[in-house]
Amino acid sequence: MNLRFDDRSITVAVVGCGGFIGSHLLQAILCRTQWRVFGVDLDFYRIQDKLNDERCEFLCGDLADVAVVERIAQFPVVVNLAAICTPSRYMAESATVIRSNYDHPAALADACAKSGSWLVHFSTSEVYGRTAADSGLLEEDSTPVTFGPVTASRWSYATAKLLTERYIAGLSGLRWTVVRPFNFVGPYMDFMPGVDGEGIPRVLANFSSALVRGEALKLVNGGKARRCFTSVFDAIDFIFALFQVAGSAGDEAPALGEVPAVYSQAFNVGNPDNELTIAELAQKMREIYAEIRGVGVESLPAPVAVSGEEYYGEGYDDSLRRLPSVAKAERLLGFRAKTPIDVCLRDSLSWFAEHYA
Ligand code: UDP
Repeated sequence: MNLRFDDRSITVAVVGCGGFIGSHLLQAILCRTQWRVFGVDLDFYRIQDKLNDERCEFLCGDLADVAVVERIAQFPVVVNLAAICTPSRYMAESATVIRSNYDHPAALADACAKSGSWLVHFSTSEVYGRTAADSGLLEEDSTPVTFGPVTASRWSYATAKLLTERYIAGLSGLRWTVVRPFNFVGPYMDFMPGVDGEGIPRVLANFSSALVRGEALKLVNGGKARRCFTSVFDAIDFIFALFQVAGSAGDEAPALGEVPAVYSQAFNVGNPDNELTIAELAQKMREIYAEIRGVGVESLPAPVAVSGEEYYGEGYDDSLRRLPSVAKAERLLGFRAKTPIDVCLRDSLSWFAEHYA
């Protein structure tokens, strides 16, 4: 596929271009290439400065609309970042979460299979399910998955995302790549509850909000779960590694027995060097925030433990460890995330403190 970065005739469709990852991707495409962007979203506040860019066309709409889906699939490359991915909604609005994360992307996949577009679909590291505290490296193509019971509605999101992956992989004629993000963090992540969003955002935004408000950070079930936090800037570099390898792959079908480097693959995108328990994350964020504010860390409220059900509501359950194997992305794309945890947290928190000051 021709994906030369200096080719002005290429237009990439970015679905969810106004979201956290989408806004960074849009910025990177405009800076690093000569391409045009067809951007779709319902909310454009993060990308106000791009709305009049002559290389962009924006559509306010979502994948529930068949006409929107058909339009998106006219472009040769479609990056789908659209999803409901606010954890507190997985319990309270399971059916809506499932429609957003299965019905809509499945319809887009159907349209891309018909038109011949390459679909880069953002899934989630939650597809690995209810991983235990002693689980090891999660491998894209060999780690089995176990979810909690149906009464644990937290898994509504993960099961819908997993079904979408299976649907995409089983769809005849579709050229696809699946991305499984491991806790991306950075500027513009999520929202501040009560200011530009409602509900409980993901942990980074939640802890940042509490710090800015001078409130105690809440450690769900004591903060024992572990996550590998990954810079959104590394995530963008990963997408460009995909573009680069796809651009050099040509259009011919691979020879029998040959594994294509980019197509028909799911990739973990995470940073195994950045693993922390949530309690450790809270401590690091308090230290960094104290430094930003020029105060002693002891002057910030101490974290408090809360139960998952009390905090998120009935049906909450958790994954206790999510450690990505990144061997496949290294082998096939030459990509490895490189931003250390302290830099990730400082980038995010300084932005948050300034933005919501
Ligand atoms: N968590 C927490 N306090 C918060 C928000 C989240 O202790 O204010 C925990 C949550 O229970 C989970 C981890 O932090 O164990 C990561 O949660 P997040 O919502 O960021 O996303 P996840 O990685 O679970 O998809």
